Amino acid sequence: MHEKTVVVIGGGFGGLRVAKMLAATPVRVLLIDRRNYHLFQPLLYQVASAGLEPEEIAQPVRAILRRQKNVEFRLAEVSSIDLDRRVVRANGMAIGYDFLVVAAGAETDTFGNASIAEASLGLKSLQDAVAIRNHILGQFERAVLQADTERRRSLLSIVIVGGGPTGVEMAGALSELVRLVLTRDYPGLHPEDIHVTLLEAQDRLLPGLPADLAAAAQAGLERKGVEVRYGAQVERCEPDRVILKTGEILMASTAIWAAGARAVDIVRNLGAPLGSRGRVKVEPDLSLASHPEVYVVGDAAYLEVGGRALPMMAPVAIQMANTAADNIRRKVDGRPSKAFRYRDPGGLATIGRNAAVAYVHGLKFRGFAAWVVWLVVHLIQLIGFRNRLLVLVNWAWDYLFYDRAVRLITSPDDEKRTSSRSA
Ligand SMILES: Cc1cc2nc3c(=O)[nH]c(=O)nc-3n(C[C@H](O)[C@H](O)[C@H](O)COP(=O)(O)OP(=O)(O)OC[C@H]3O[C@@H](n4cnc5c(N)ncnc54)[C@H](O)[C@@H]3O)c2cc1C
Repeated sequence: MHEKTVVVIGGGFGGLRVAKMLAATPVRVLLIDRRNYHLFQPLLYQVASAGLEPEEIAQPVRAILRRQKNVEFRLAEVSSIDLDRRVVRANGMAIGYDFLVVAAGAETDTFGNASIAEASLGLKSLQDAVAIRNHILGQFERAVLQADTERRRSLLSIVIVGGGPTGVEMAGALSELVRLVLTRDYPGLHPEDIHVTLLEAQDRLLPGLPADLAAAAQAGLERKGVEVRYGAQVERCEPDRVILKTGEILMASTAIWAAGARAVDIVRNLGAPLGSRGRVKVEPDLSLASHPEVYVVGDAAYLEVGGRALPMMAPVAIQMANTAADNIRRKVDGRPSKAFRYRDPGGLATIGRNAAVAYVHGLKFRGFAAWVVWLVVHLIQLIGFRNRLLVLVNWAWDYLFYDRAVRLITSPDDEKRTSSRSA
């Protein structure tokens, strides 16, 4: 009997999980990704804030899957998907499939604002994270050479836009980097010239967590010297300033955009109905209504549960991948598909040393207890024993010596360049 081919686009949380879950199914799995590694995005901000090396949060896909006999990997960028012909086009190849799983994720969304795309830094890839690190360290070096006080303050000011988990964690980590580490590296600079501001358009942080935990996160950030501002909408970004819709100007030579994400191009151009953020509307079993052999999972998929769209989070991607793989297995066996059921594990956000908020299976944690939960959860989820060990050593070093391991400016020329943003 002809062995079915399952093409999986994306080796992130969703795609990798689908490939692994099909290990014992009599199908041939072809996993395609434009990069040769799986990236643990929740720790990207630690690369950006000089705490971890890029390699410590990434693992080659071939190494992860090398023991699995029925899977092959192709390093290629998918340019289009022809649903009617059942063909995926990538790097000049036309790859046919019996089942397709689209797990291509999301990219930073600057909502069509060209100035934000041009003058702010996004955080979606390893290149983005290294670019932020290079940029901030470069600004401190420039500040040392700058005699003009106002100009120096602008070089030492960082604005982070977006009060979700990425913005909150980034603000906490950068505040600690500049206040605990860089002030020692740059004794000639005045600590009062350094400013970290977190802007949020709504009236609270961390919309996925209970309001009291969000308030605790705000208080934790303020204790670390972060200025948290609500109702702040950005109109424009320029190299040395952020301009709000009210006309207010914040002089800051670093703007980090953590305020939006949307599904990647190939997902938005699939020709299927789209929900918010360019995500593809899927049926309850995660397939496309018009093409039941095609599944969409993770950040690329739009599904409402209880009247609310599921968030773009790793647990959603992983749980969707389990269901999609199960449904492919069922179809191969001639059994009916089953509907996706989401079990919300809660959420976590760290604010820095000894400080985090966590809402896990209905239980609320804050402060040191939440921070320990956060450390354990992230270490467990990181792929690869070597990476876990290196991350643990780095964290212990930072904790004991108030230090950051990776304060290198590796490429001053590309410090403002990011790889995965769209205007
Ligand atoms: C900075 C940051 C922090 C985050 N923190 C958290 C957190 O703390 N907790 C949490 O639960 N979630 C967090 N998330 C969200 C989480 O990372 C995503 O929800 C999750 O990665 C989605 O999984 P996915 O498989 O859908 O996509 P991804 O993991 O993004 O994987 C998509 C894959 O598709 C590949 N790809 C894309 N386009 C193509 C193409 N055309 N051709 C070939 N390959 C392609 C990409 O290279 C990538 O490997 C964070 C995200 C970011 C950016």
